[in-house]
Parts: sequence; structure tokens; C-alpha cells
Amino acid sequence: MVRFPSLVALGAVALNVSAVFGAVPSPDRRADELRLIKTSDEDPGTWMTEEEKFEKLISKRLGFMDITDTLELESLRADKVATRQVQAAAFPSAPSHQTEAKALIAKLVQSNLSTWLNEMAAIYNRYYKGSYAATSATWMYDTVVEVSSANPAITVKKVTHSYNQPSVIAAIPGTSAEVVVVSAHYDSIGSTTSGKAPGADDNASGVIVILEALRVLAEAKYKGGNTLEFHFYSGEEGGLLGSRDVMQSYKKASKQVLAVMNQDMTGYSPNNVIAVYTDYVDTGLTNFIKKLVPVYSDLPLLTDTCGGSARDAGYPAAYVCDEGMADSSPYIHSAQDTVSTVSIPHVFQHAKLTVGFLVEASYF
Ligand SMILES: [Zn+2]
Repeated sequence: MVRFPSLVALGAVALNVSAVFGAVPSPDRRADELRLIKTSDEDPGTWMTEEEKFEKLISKRLGFMDITDTLELESLRADKVATRQVQAAAFPSAPSHQTEAKALIAKLVQSNLSTWLNEMAAIYNRYYKGSYAATSATWMYDTVVEVSSANPAITVKKVTHSYNQPSVIAAIPGTSAEVVVVSAHYDSIGSTTSGKAPGADDNASGVIVILEALRVLAEAKYKGGNTLEFHFYSGEEGGLLGSRDVMQSYKKASKQVLAVMNQDMTGYSPNNVIAVYTDYVDTGLTNFIKKLVPVYSDLPLLTDTCGGSARDAGYPAAYVCDEGMADSSPYIHSAQDTVSTVSIPHVFQHAKLTVGFLVEASYF
């Protein structure tokens, strides 16, 4: 995870707007292989090397965004602010498709979660610029293809980025082209860029939630009103690279995205809760998801704030995870983020919530 901006590229609503980059800010240092990094909304950006990015930000677990490849998204924020009122979806006041959702939830299989978690954590690391970047991407793509194969209507595609680890997107077409997204990043990072990084909680646990929800809907040949998309992002630990790239292309293509529910860490929860973060997200969507937690999971809801900053593509986004800030896994971004720290029964509760969300959101 990158704590604050996990929501960012997913469309979290910024409360304040900083200077907008319509073009590359000068001096343009891209030719020197430098990256443009923002650590807050107000931050105009700092050019730094990949090494500096790791030393100054990643290794200290500070939130940041690498906007080098997605400068257009910064200017699109201006549009977002102007059209925000129009875009804001009115979310339902309560869940209303419980019979349909619970029949699908009954088909979730806990052992699938364990199988995939072990496979992902067995890759030495899933660092987006590391020697296993392509290996992890191949696992991700092949697994999504296999899970989706139960329904030929599902499309699976790779989205390539400036580094060797594509994001993967599966789509279940609905009767409408409007899109609902559930997402998780699949890259991981260790205490060094070449170090061991099983990334079991951060964020294999989120990936397997999305995969199992996809499997159930694929096998049921589910077709809803809205198109349901399952996004597996790469390069998140490098500053939200994959998700920002995907959201920039969606914004440029004028895709109508009604809701994004991102999950980053779902299996380490000393308080045994489902946590919904309430700052720098879409309040309407977040309030709706808070109502789904007691209906579709067996766990109590905890709300927390991450106190960071965010900006966006203007799509309503929410952030769900396994714990509040204070009690989150101490093992992330290290070789200790192993399968043994992840509670599969807890991950299973997130899968129930996710299927409930997808069914409800297909009617948005
Ligand atoms: Zn993460």
C-alpha cells in the first residue's frame, strides 16, 4: 500500500485543488530519467531519481504519487471540479438486492483464496521494476483469464505501462456501458528494491478477494445492468502508477465510471473488523458501502481516516481495508508480510462484501 493515495487515482474527491499541470512543468527532467513526485495536493512536484524515490519515500512508507507518466490526469482534475455536481451519482439509501446477492455469496469458496494467496506470495517479489515484474504479471493475467473462462462474454485485457508490469482488467458486460469497478493492486515491495517481498497482506489479500468475486460471477454467467470491471493494478508501490494510467485513459475516453471500490489489505485484523476509510473518498459511495458491511459480512464496521491528501479522475471512489490505521499490519513492505500473517476467514468476509457490492452496484 501507499497509505494515503491508494484511493487517489481511483477517483477520490479532492477537497482542494492545487495548481493544475496542463503540460510538463519546467524544467522537464524526463530526459534525465528523473521522476516527478507529489506528496500532497499542494505539492507542485519534485524531480527525483528512482533511487531517491525509494530512499526518501517508499522506505519510509510515506504516501506519494509518481505523476511523470500521467500529467494529463492532473489537468483533467480541473474538469472534474467543474463537472463534479453533474457526475455525482445518487447512491441508494440501502441495499435492495439481498436475495440475489446472497445466493451468489453462498458460492464463494474459501480454499480458492488460500490457493491463490500461496501462489502469489511464492513469487520472490512483485516489485514493478524488479526481475520478477514480468513473472508476477504473467501469473496475474493467466489467473484472471482462467477464472473468467467460465463465461465467454467476459473480456480480459492487459494495460501496458512505462515499466514491465501491465495492469490486468476483466469486464463482465452489462446492459449498460456504464462501469462499476472493484480493484486491488498486485505488485509488492520489500525493504529493498530487490529484496524478498511476499506481499501477502499488501496486497495479495486484496487481489484474491477480487479474483474470487470474479470467479463466482463468471461461473454464474452473471449479467447485470452496469458493466462490472475487475482491475488488478501494477506499480502501485511506485506511486500509483498503474491505477493512474488506467484512470487517465478512462477519463480521456470519457468512460462513465459510477463507482470504484478499492481494497488494499484484507487479511490482517487484530480487531476483526472491516475498515472503511472516510477521508479523501466519495462520501455518497462510502456511506453506501458502510451500509453493506453489516448486511453482507459478519464483521463489525470500523471507520477511520488516513489523513493524507488525494486527487483524482473525478470518479466516485471508496477505500475498504482490514483494519484502522493504528492496528494495521506491521509487516508490510518487508520479507515478513507472509501468508502466516493473513487470516483467510477474514479475507473471506471481504469477498462476501465485494460480491454484495457488485450486485448492488450493477443496479446503480
Ligand atoms: Zn498496498
